[in-house]
Amino acid sequence: MPLSHSSLQALQAGRWFKLICGASFQDLPAIRHLAIAYSLAGADCIDVAAEPAVVAAAKSGIAAAKSWLDAAVQRGYQPTQPWLMVSVNDGEDPHFRKAVFDPTICPANCPRPCVTICPADAIAFTEEKQGVIVDRCYGCGRCLPICPIQIIKEQKHISTPAAVRDLLQTGEVQAIEIHTQPERGQEFLRLWQELSGSLNQLQLISISAPVGSEKGLDGGLDHLRSISQLLTSLTPTPLIIWQTDGRPMSGDIGMGTTHATIALGRQVAAAKLPGYVQLAGGTNHYTVNKLREVKLLKSAGQEIFVSGIAYGSYARVMLAPLFEQISGSDKLEDHPDVLWAAVDRAAALIQQIKS
Ligand code: SF4
Ligand code: SF4
Repeated sequence: MPLSHSSLQALQAGRWFKLICGASFQDLPAIRHLAIAYSLAGADCIDVAAEPAVVAAAKSGIAAAKSWLDAAVQRGYQPTQPWLMVSVNDGEDPHFRKAVFDPTICPANCPRPCVTICPADAIAFTEEKQGVIVDRCYGCGRCLPICPIQIIKEQKHISTPAAVRDLLQTGEVQAIEIHTQPERGQEFLRLWQELSGSLNQLQLISISAPVGSEKGLDGGLDHLRSISQLLTSLTPTPLIIWQTDGRPMSGDIGMGTTHATIALGRQVAAAKLPGYVQLAGGTNHYTVNKLREVKLLKSAGQEIFVSGIAYGSYARVMLAPLFEQISGSDKLEDHPDVLWAAVDRAAALIQQIKS
């Protein structure tokens, strides 16, 4: 697919847009729909769970978008062939979990606040399904504290290096993101060693970390510096992104969720690690305006800036009502009206950072 701007150029220009489908999100039709809409709208990268079926769904969406390229250009969009990224973790992480509970013990008179609060429609009490719809749950955790009898628990999972290695060796993904935390030097190293041999064929390695708090990096920067030595020792050296994970999976809650990632983005950018700094965790329609206000968008002569933004829950929730209209259909392209409505919404978000 010819590119109106390449993903690399977008990073270099400080105009990078990444869609996060979710490290635990496995709703294959939704992932395919998202991949089509955001490819046609101009996303630079799509980040998915490190599972063959999920990667296949995203690839299928990106491939399907090619048939709509001319129509997208005619409509004024700037379609891309986004890089495909898979996310893995070196230890416990909220992005890598599912909610679980036994619906048979729910009191009949419970008003079911769990259903109301779930942003992914992942809890149901219908004839077909009772409880958590596992593929849809992406681990946001909002249902956990709301249950009046506290029966909702989290089920965590940690990436299996051998399975990730197999996936990388297929050559189907161009990028990996490793979720880590400041105190996990040993765990990171172990994962790194187990993946070695598969990493040097990637174009991009992203490191996602909640490096401290809004008030300070709390030693997290040392962890990132150690990782940067590993990254720059690879031959060839991949592109490097430091993803500042401010307030994970919260961008759809409200405007203010973006402040944590902007504060962290400024601190990591000031540390001048090799590579690019990209925001995530709480990003939404307010993020670009706020970046502009605090002068963190890249411009001529500017020394401290971020190079891009990743959007997760906000980007998905924005399109979810449209996808509900074609519930049961695997192919967004069979519904052109819904397809273009989705591209339109996706493009409006992308253009915030691109323009
Ligand atoms: S609220 Fe979040 S954690 Fe709970 S079921 Fe929904 S997506 Fe999963
Ligand atoms: S809030 Fe708790 S008790 Fe009520 S329906 Fe949900 S899981 Fe069951």
